[in-house]
Amino acid sequence: MLVFKIVFWVGTVMQVIIRGPFAISARSRNKTEQHGSHLENILPVLLTIAAGILPLIYTFTNWLAFANYSLPVWLGWAGVFILIVSLLIFWRAHVDLKANWSPSLELYEGHTLITNGIYRFIRHPMYASQWVWAIAQLMLIQNRIAGPASQILFLPFYLLRKNAEEKMMLEKFDNPYREYMQATGGILPKL
Ligand code: SAH
Repeated sequence: MLVFKIVFWVGTVMQVIIRGPFAISARSRNKTEQHGSHLENILPVLLTIAAGILPLIYTFTNWLAFANYSLPVWLGWAGVFILIVSLLIFWRAHVDLKANWSPSLELYEGHTLITNGIYRFIRHPMYASQWVWAIAQLMLIQNRIAGPASQILFLPFYLLRKNAEEKMMLEKFDNPYREYMQATGGILPKL
């Protein structure tokens, strides 16, 4: 249904609007450390293909039409709800992380450890929001190639990034981050 495609693209624009100001201010901050590996540079490109280019092809051409599927309408609306949840987590995480956000693994001059707001419950709310987004994509982009693309490509990104990021944070903040790790979950709150 057209409405589900529209919701997906409105959601994508919202993500850009939420991140935009953080991406602009990140450019002018002084970095003290950069930990990004080559593989880590390739993965965001894969994510752009999975969450942007393949859904674009699905929406505006019929090249992938052979792989279309059709879900019950209520599941499409469940996808809309899940997308909104993803955006809320994404927005909250940016507001709480403030100027400490960076596109790749970096530390800034005067970098502070954030453990409040949504970061009180989980260490990786932005990555969590991408997982939730990938679930919504399955329901809104009803195509066997473009639908699960984010699910498939996000997994290696998440595993690689999460481990490298936590190693970097442990080296920088040591015990406070160790304690923070014990008190919180990665993408799901600790029970
Ligand atoms: N993994 C987090 C942050 C993603 S942005 C999330 O999913 O919400 C990546 C950058 O955020 C890293 O380069 C690191 O410098 C910074 N970062 C991650 N966790 C942080 C924290 N608790 N406090 C401050 N900065 C953090």
